Amino acid sequence: MKRIFNYTAMFLIGGILASCATSAVTGRKYLSLVNESQLNDQAALAYKEFLSSSGTKVVTGTSNATMVKRVGNNIASATNRFLQERGVADQYDFNWEFNLVQSDEVNAWCMPGGKVAVYSGIIPITGNEAGLATVMGHEIAHAIEKHSVAQASNQIALQLGAQVIGAASSTTNNRAVSAINQLYGIGAPLGMLKFSRNDELAADRAGLIIMAMAGYDPNEAVKFWERMSSAKSGQAPAEFLSTHPSDARRISQLQSYIPEAMKYYKK
Ligand SMILES: [Zn+2]
Repeated sequence: MKRIFNYTAMFLIGGILASCATSAVTGRKYLSLVNESQLNDQAALAYKEFLSSSGTKVVTGTSNATMVKRVGNNIASATNRFLQERGVADQYDFNWEFNLVQSDEVNAWCMPGGKVAVYSGIIPITGNEAGLATVMGHEIAHAIEKHSVAQASNQIALQLGAQVIGAASSTTNNRAVSAINQLYGIGAPLGMLKFSRNDELAADRAGLIIMAMAGYDPNEAVKFWERMSSAKSGQAPAEFLSTHPSDARRISQLQSYIPEAMKYYKK
């Protein structure tokens, strides 16, 4: 019995290793059951549907809407330089898009492929352009690290079990679409995207470098997370707060990454 279990476990682990991909930036291994370029296409479709759905109001022509596009473009070109400097730009296919949507929700996300949404509820907490750059740098760093590819894959693996492990089939890609919609809360009040603390720290670290490369002072990130921390009480629904615990531990980790990021910050 025990031996059968071991063989099964070995088979499963072998299958999982076969479907592991490696993050080009940190070298971290992650489960990838989906064809990533197809996932990007599907995410782009999901984004388009999200923007055009009756529940979404895209803000255009206001100073905040312009700011979201301006900061987004600065962060995007810094991200491209970040990837080029590390010699991994060819492993990414970002088709950037940045939109501000009207919502009391305190939230922001970047889908695989570079589709970004900023909810107007988070704007007062960002405080200034550097605060917004903090949020965008962080969310884009999650995308660079393929955290949601890994999470979508984990979700598919849970749904389908061992049978799919090792194959990126059309079935798994169909499931990827629904996984993306579920993760980002499209068609649902709240998404299920919740990264581990390690993922959060990795996104903080790369996000700080990216915002610095885009010309924003990384020290502003500390102030942003402190504002986030004091916004905790009273503001609802604050999805970003529940998925991004901004406690003292996070803030002190963030501070420890600042000297590295400052090397990229040219006044
Ligand atoms: Zn995060």
